[in-house]
Amino acid sequence: MSRDSELENLLGKTEGEVFERATLKSIWKLMNNGIIDSFDFPISTGKEGTVFRARCKDEFIAVKIYRINTATFRSISKHLMYNPPKNMRKDRRSIIFAWAFREFTNLHKLHRAGVRVPRPLAREGNVIAMEYIGTEEQPAPLLKDAEIKNAEKLFNMIREYLRRMYCKARLIHSDLSSYNILVHKQEPVIIDVGQTVGTDHPMAMTFLERDIANISQFFRRFISVDEEEIKRYIIRCKNEVC
Ligand code: ATP
Ligand code: MN
Repeated sequence: MSRDSELENLLGKTEGEVFERATLKSIWKLMNNGIIDSFDFPISTGKEGTVFRARCKDEFIAVKIYRINTATFRSISKHLMYNPPKNMRKDRRSIIFAWAFREFTNLHKLHRAGVRVPRPLAREGNVIAMEYIGTEEQPAPLLKDAEIKNAEKLFNMIREYLRRMYCKARLIHSDLSSYNILVHKQEPVIIDVGQTVGTDHPMAMTFLERDIANISQFFRRFISVDEEEIKRYIIRCKNEVC
């Protein structure tokens, strides 16, 4: 299939959604750079954009496309303004590009710190290509929908990832819940790290406590959890910044 017909094919897969020129250009570049060969189907369409399953050669990949006219634009720009990238222009497109770039670099930092996240592959404009989490048949379920065989093991892994996130990557997820963790082969994979902030953010502790509260609320159905104990575990760092 040619690149043009692949793009048409992609447009056909997102009913009613019309991609902006900038989005098409970014996808075009990723295709020309050999990152994306074709699109399979949209996995999810959310407030900020669409995540597709796509392919590169024989491998599945995930492609997250931020909508430029996103409804949550205001909260995005508020988030970015706290710690704006150097020389960022203030138009909507540049802000969304910066947002996608932030998510991409956060994925890198987390991956390097040993936190299980989708491995970042490439970013172009408002489009991020990353490792696809799931099987040939279907994308991995969210924690809230997953069949959980061993809640304690899953919970301990998430807690350890939060500790590495805090101590090694010096980041706080800030939107963590059973909606932003995938379960693949009975192991957690943390996603959606655009709004993730540094531990030096003035609201850092509030965000961390909220993340802990969300996760605790979910796991209380299965095991007993002590939020204070989790927090102590997470912030117990031993010179491990990487
Ligand atoms: P929403 O508003 O729905 O939360 P979002 O903009 O916050 O969307 P994400 O949470 O990053 O975006 O991704 C949306 C959905 O796409 C996820 O809930 C998940 O089901 C799926 N998804 C995201 N990344 C991947 C991936 N790497 N592999 C498989 N599925 C993914
Ligand atoms: Mn999400």
